[in-house]
Amino acid sequence: MASSEMNNGAAAGMRPNHLRIATEEAWATREMLNLYRRMLAQGKIDDPGFNSLWGFYLNSPSARATAIIERLQEMGEPRIRDMDASGIDKQILMLTSPGVQVFDAATAVAVAKSSNDELADCVRRYPTRYVGMAAVAPQNPAEAAKELERGVRQLGFKGAILNSHTLGEYLDDPKFWDIFAAAEALDVPVYLHPNSPSKGLIEPLLTRGLDGAIYGFGVETGMHLLAIITSGVFDRFPQLQIVVGHLGEALPFWLFRLDYMHRATVNSRRYEFMKPLKKQVSDYLRENVFITNSGMAWAPAIMFCQQVLGMDRVLYAMDYPYQYVPEEVREMENSPLSAADQKKFYQLNAEKVFKL
Ligand code: CA
Repeated sequence: MASSEMNNGAAAGMRPNHLRIATEEAWATREMLNLYRRMLAQGKIDDPGFNSLWGFYLNSPSARATAIIERLQEMGEPRIRDMDASGIDKQILMLTSPGVQVFDAATAVAVAKSSNDELADCVRRYPTRYVGMAAVAPQNPAEAAKELERGVRQLGFKGAILNSHTLGEYLDDPKFWDIFAAAEALDVPVYLHPNSPSKGLIEPLLTRGLDGAIYGFGVETGMHLLAIITSGVFDRFPQLQIVVGHLGEALPFWLFRLDYMHRATVNSRRYEFMKPLKKQVSDYLRENVFITNSGMAWAPAIMFCQQVLGMDRVLYAMDYPYQYVPEEVREMENSPLSAADQKKFYQLNAEKVFKL
């Protein structure tokens, strides 16, 4: 680590008194992107969010799209140089959205395995810089649970990556709960990363160009996390920890109203299926959820989340390569947080959640 620490210090100004662990960083295999290309060309995917997102990234000649496609697949020295240039010590790596969750079940299971093997090789090449998260295929929940166990026990991964909906289905459906049971038993977190809004949710966003990371990802993923909470997942799996990006996909801002209206809705029996929970919605967000500031390099919002969720619940993330702005890292170090709280945000919370 000594030489890379000096590099980081030189690139990012004065060396801080903590590591910087970026906790929501993306990569992609050639195999998966080729499958995406083929599916787009055949026009077979009944998922307007996928077609919008990957139709852009794989077909646009824009500098943004071409640079991101190149960086997603680059796992060697150029990625390490980008980390050094921005002062990032470690990346927590996850197969980019929607990962395998757009394939048929057999393909999804196979591509999850092959991409996990490939990622494990990358981590072996850069063991002090990369940390792996296991891709799993919710299309086959039993296989997903087995692949998570293989990822953690055999490949050294630190959790699972799930990219929100799977072909329009959400993880509040108990048919997926083998995955949560496995994560709880293995004592590893699940990262609930955005996907484009599902077919049933996307139309008014898509027709206005708001389906992507600008807003649609947050609508999709915040709703998904809330549905996981209100379905009782955390009463069933009280030790489960879910990590969610983009400062909790806006849910921290809603805490007060979520508690009040969830209670009012349950008590009035407006929906027969909405059952009472053991705790308030906000309790689950404080006890079972960690949030990262991926794509939100903005001190006022970070500090609000730290205030309402707790200093131990908010982690640093960059969202490389989708939001690779090296200066952001240095600017955020100028926030009014104490050195001890900066160290929690950039390093200690991530070491605890991912058991580094
Ligand atoms: Ca991301």
